[in-house]
Amino acid sequence: SERMLGCAQIFEKRLSSACLLRSLTLFFANFPNTCQKTCIVISLRMTHPFPSLSPEQKRELSDIAQRIVAPGKGILAADESTGTMAKRLQKINVENTEENRRSFRDILFSSDASFSNCVGGIIFFHETLYQKSDSGKLFPQLVKEKGIVVGIKVDKGTAGLMGTDGETTTQGLDGLSERCAQYKKDGCDFAKWRCVLKISDGCPSALAIAENANVLARYASICQQNGLVPIVEPEILPDGDHDLQRCQYATEKVLAAVYKALSDHHVYLEGTLLKPNMVTAGHSCTKKYTPQEVAMATVTALRRTVPASVPGICFLSGGQSEEEASVNLNAINQVPLHRPWKLTFSYGRALQASALAAWKGKAENKAATQQTFITRAKINGLASKGEYKPTGAAGQASTQSLYTASYVY
Ligand code: 13P
Repeated sequence: SERMLGCAQIFEKRLSSACLLRSLTLFFANFPNTCQKTCIVISLRMTHPFPSLSPEQKRELSDIAQRIVAPGKGILAADESTGTMAKRLQKINVENTEENRRSFRDILFSSDASFSNCVGGIIFFHETLYQKSDSGKLFPQLVKEKGIVVGIKVDKGTAGLMGTDGETTTQGLDGLSERCAQYKKDGCDFAKWRCVLKISDGCPSALAIAENANVLARYASICQQNGLVPIVEPEILPDGDHDLQRCQYATEKVLAAVYKALSDHHVYLEGTLLKPNMVTAGHSCTKKYTPQEVAMATVTALRRTVPASVPGICFLSGGQSEEEASVNLNAINQVPLHRPWKLTFSYGRALQASALAAWKGKAENKAATQQTFITRAKINGLASKGEYKPTGAAGQASTQSLYTASYVY
């Protein structure tokens, strides 16, 4: 390694070519073996940074990411697929029609502009991106006018990995560049791609970790080339009876692999956001942990694996109740350790469950639905700064578990 360092110094000094040749000849004389010489040349070539994104492209990506996770802000994940919406609407006895899906989202998006103080970005599903509000405005325009950044889910769901214990990868790379280019034209500035891992005796397997890390990196690189900030989401499901330490261990291994892959793919980290699970015990674990224990395990795992250049980490709620997700996020932002990134929310269920319950598909419940949604958004905005003080008066809807086994989004 001392010799490698000497070699790096030769390059840094930008010597004239004659001088460089002399220095290199002297340097390589240290290595009598041809194989050693070849290894050195290969390792120097491998690290050569070919141009990727221009300084302007980098600045745009990092500005977008910073706007989404500005202080006190997080993300509303409203990108449920049509199938997932069917399950949500069924719970409140509302038919899963395009109009009902539009209607519920219209209520959320046209809430009083004050919710943009705590929501920096909204993730859309393809269908929603091209729907209009009752006011006649396309949804992306409506939310942009409130200063909210528009995002889009671009993955095409999971597919089984043969020979594993039911593990998956995520599909959607084919034609992704063209789709991203179109979404950028249609007003999107960030994207989401969800990979899913699980914990059991032999899971996550080395194959699942490597495959999902690589597909996330490939997706992230395609997004950045098209001006979209990629949200990198390697979700470890809460299914199982494992304890907190087991989840922390798996989370560290998965995130370490993800950041190695992002580096290998030359992804510009300042123009990305991470969307991980919080480190929690499995849903059927008999031992219960405090929000402070969850927070310490989560921040420890992140500090060991996520570079400080990543601007924000936006947790998914993963089946926690609305209140639990807020209390845990708040505790995470109070951990007495240095946290170089914003730690905020990108919640689907934990931002919409009580709003859906308030709506019940009835137009006359619009104001109550918006109020419920804004209350939750504000609580999470406070939690993202570690300033949420629960009153103990959380309603029934917000304390109900939102867990579904083997969750599909
Ligand atoms: P939950 O917050 O409901 O887990 O979903 C967030 C999400 O976007 C999952 O991909």
